[in-house]
Amino acid sequence: MPNIVVVGAQWGDEGKGKVVDLLAEKGRWVVRFQGGNNAGHTLVVDGAKVVLHLVPSGILQRGCRCVIGNGVVLDPGVLLREFDALQASGIDMSPERMIVSTEAHVILPWHRALDRARELAAGAGKIGTTGRGIGPAYEDKVARRGVRVADLLKPGMLRGKVEEALARHNHELVRLGHAALTVDEVMAEILPLGERLGRWARPVVRLLHEALGRGEGILFEGAQGTFLDVDHGTYPFVTSSNTVAGGACAGSGVGPTAIDAVVGIAKAYATRVGAGPFPTELDDALGERLRQAGQEFGATTGRPRRTGWLDAFMLRHAAMLNGLTHLALTKLDVLSGLGPLRVCVGYVDARGASVDEVPAGAEELAAMVPIYEELPGWDEDLSRCRVWEALPPACRAYVTRVEALVGVPVGALGVGPGREAIIARDAMFAA
Ligand code: GDP
Repeated sequence: MPNIVVVGAQWGDEGKGKVVDLLAEKGRWVVRFQGGNNAGHTLVVDGAKVVLHLVPSGILQRGCRCVIGNGVVLDPGVLLREFDALQASGIDMSPERMIVSTEAHVILPWHRALDRARELAAGAGKIGTTGRGIGPAYEDKVARRGVRVADLLKPGMLRGKVEEALARHNHELVRLGHAALTVDEVMAEILPLGERLGRWARPVVRLLHEALGRGEGILFEGAQGTFLDVDHGTYPFVTSSNTVAGGACAGSGVGPTAIDAVVGIAKAYATRVGAGPFPTELDDALGERLRQAGQEFGATTGRPRRTGWLDAFMLRHAAMLNGLTHLALTKLDVLSGLGPLRVCVGYVDARGASVDEVPAGAEELAAMVPIYEELPGWDEDLSRCRVWEALPPACRAYVTRVEALVGVPVGALGVGPGREAIIARDAMFAA
């Protein structure tokens, strides 16, 4: 079975859940390799809603084993609550099928407190983080003073680490108007969590390599999107980890030669949450129509997402950054009845000179003016189409044009919110 990396090709919220679900039916393993509990899929299991933040959605497939890799930062309290909720819905959460890497870093109370206090203090200059401590936990990781799952399991050593961390971080907390945290209160909170989490924690590298040796198929599930990557995204309006496909290797301990396919998920238009450059943004009535038709509001916050035309120039860049072998284009149904459609095919800079590459920095990107190509729209409802031939000709022409502009085949199309509302054009995506 192939080993596949799935990543968002835009700014996140591309509808990765459905495609990951579909592909997880084929693989035996699903691995999360970066990010924290800021992602959220809402899934319906036997009529009951289950929200997944960190647990890979493969957990709903009986034959699937799930791994939270070393590249993830995890909040043990949130994770254990998620485990409990899943268990309560009748899902087998035994350590045989849910494994947490001992090398993953842990989000601790000071990370959450710092995240919130800094966003409050930043006012208008804020990045728009989710306040869950993910950024500060990654900071400590890179500064080589982080606490890993393995540390959480050794209470003797843990106290010293907490003392050290608070000696450093309390200064900032107090300066930002937050109460200082005490070692005792932190220990009282995290010790029992570590004790419980121990059941699922183990080294995963050999485990995954043995799975590879047996040809069991690993699906690497990315969170957020390519242009939120800490290196390749619209810096500094980015997340704290590598969201590009290469991150799957570093964040799990599997080398690049094991990867057979890389699937980029993109919406048939574009959205972005929070601040940062967005060249094809529609700041008008059409953008609002797109927002309503696509229900572009944050899953947990209800925050409206910014909307705009599909940026094929940027997707072409995403194809390079990730080494995409396939694209999956979601929410094609949302474009029905919108009138003529535009696709961005390139940029000119502020002086009107055309550019040959998407600039990496936020300021440079914000100065870009998109060049559009206009394509005919369609009015038909797509939500019941299940084969390529059933799509209106204008819709097929749109997809074919995007494919040509990006230079990557579109293997699957999303035509509605339901799990079944998908058209496979490539055997890899066939149910
Ligand atoms: P993620 O953040 O990329 O993992 O996005 P999710 O998988 O959580 O999907 C976001 C939302 O988009 C969910 O409410 C899905 O039901 C919805 N969605 C996904 N694919 C489609 C599609 O093809 N059409 C429509 N209309 N909605 C979709």
